[in-house]
Amino acid sequence: MAAKSQPSGPRVKSPPSSANGHVSQKGQWGRAWEVDWFSLAGVVFLLLCAPFIVYYFIMACDQFQCSLTAPILDLALGRVHLTDIWARTPGLTRVAAQLYAAWVSFQVLLYMGLPDFCHKILPGYKGGVQEGAITPAGVINKYQINGLQAWLITHLLWFANEYFLGWFSPTIIFDHWIPLLWCANILGYAVSTFAMIKGYCFPTNAKDCKFTGNFFYNYMMGVEFNPRIGKWFDFKLFFNGRPGIVAWTLINLSFAAKQRELYGHITNSMVLVNVLQGIYVVDFFWNEAWYLKTMDICHDHFGWYLGWGDCVWLPYLYTLQGFYLVHQPVQLSTPHALAVLALGLVGYYVFRMSNHQKDLFRRTDGRCLIWGRPPKIIECLYTSADGQTHRSKLLASGFWGLARHFNYTGDLMGSLAYCLACGGAHLLPYFYITHMTILLTHRCLRDEHRCASKYGRDWARYTAAVPARLLPGIF
Ligand code: NDP
Repeated sequence: MAAKSQPSGPRVKSPPSSANGHVSQKGQWGRAWEVDWFSLAGVVFLLLCAPFIVYYFIMACDQFQCSLTAPILDLALGRVHLTDIWARTPGLTRVAAQLYAAWVSFQVLLYMGLPDFCHKILPGYKGGVQEGAITPAGVINKYQINGLQAWLITHLLWFANEYFLGWFSPTIIFDHWIPLLWCANILGYAVSTFAMIKGYCFPTNAKDCKFTGNFFYNYMMGVEFNPRIGKWFDFKLFFNGRPGIVAWTLINLSFAAKQRELYGHITNSMVLVNVLQGIYVVDFFWNEAWYLKTMDICHDHFGWYLGWGDCVWLPYLYTLQGFYLVHQPVQLSTPHALAVLALGLVGYYVFRMSNHQKDLFRRTDGRCLIWGRPPKIIECLYTSADGQTHRSKLLASGFWGLARHFNYTGDLMGSLAYCLACGGAHLLPYFYITHMTILLTHRCLRDEHRCASKYGRDWARYTAAVPARLLPGIF
């Protein structure tokens, strides 16, 4: 076993404080979160219910014309029984299992087998071997960045099949959507369980493991920080990017193909969803090296939250708008479509530029211009697990002077645009903005808790200079 777990019980004290109870001048780094009873209840609830939540949304579209309330009402009024719903739900099929196995194997092959060539031919693109951020144990991992290449090859093959080869129908993903859901769940649980066992028995870096003493919390939030097999197979980078985000645009294309097959044309709402989400996905892969500096890689441990979430939650619930539009096609008026497009593009601009400002600021160590002026800087100190003191800087101008997470605000504007593309007939496609609001608010609070632990009073100086979290004057 890599490290001794703490005595059982839900409360784990971790944030540092001085003898007088105040946050220390110099922060202490590492995953810092107290597993109180409330958090534990949330963890157990999600572990038990999240697969059913995903199933409920897909089933509501498949069997109840995308009404979120109809399944509950019909069950309550005895118009339908659980056994009827279950009997109408397609089970796991051999074809779906073969498709899913081929899909994941192909992505592993692209991830492991092909060194990146995009950085040689695309100016400004950062691919190939890149360094991640320093971990709490003081390790700097190297990553093979070749996601853009994997995305391009996968999509070229998809279009080659659709227009020239004809090996399979482009509606294949939609046609096997529920059987594929069972396969995705099997992989999601298998990889999370393997990651847990690996964390205890053969971790990649024992000093970067975190044991809270609570089994459920460890399973959900992960023990190992950066689990790897061999030198290059990094669980976090692979599972988030490949079966999850490469699939996102393919799934949307399959939904568009199904709409054309069923109704003879593709609606402007479906085009909007494909285009806006396509921009977000391509942006992710174009900036994959930047992704190494985001919370997922820099702070989150790899457990069920990332493992199952990347395999099931992301491909099934982030694509709900396209799935909805197959069942309930919507043709938007031109002003409505243009307003959605504008909101989506402005949201994307804010999201990208705020992330870019922070990246530029950190890369140049503050020697850059933000909105044409030298940046406002807050100098910070923190201590890593080996007791070493490090220096860092926080940006307090540009988008980071408007709010402490304006990048999340841009993301939320884009998310709202995807939902508004689906019109107002049903609540179901609005799940995404609801989920993103909860996810990013929770993420903002988690991040701020961690930053307060890491930077101590220096973080307090930043929050005094920039009081808003997401929206100036509101939150
Ligand atoms: P951030 O990119 O905001 O990174 C937070 C980290 O940045 C902090 O932990 C801190 O790290 C550093 N930091 C915080 N404030 C400052 C500052 N003022 N100046 C310099 N550095 C600062 O968060 P995420 O990694 O969560 O998100 C990255 C993007 O990904 C966001 O735009 C988000 O919207 C998007 N996202 C999308 C999701 C989706 O499902 N679609 C899910 C999650 C994120 P340090 O320790 O280095 O100081």
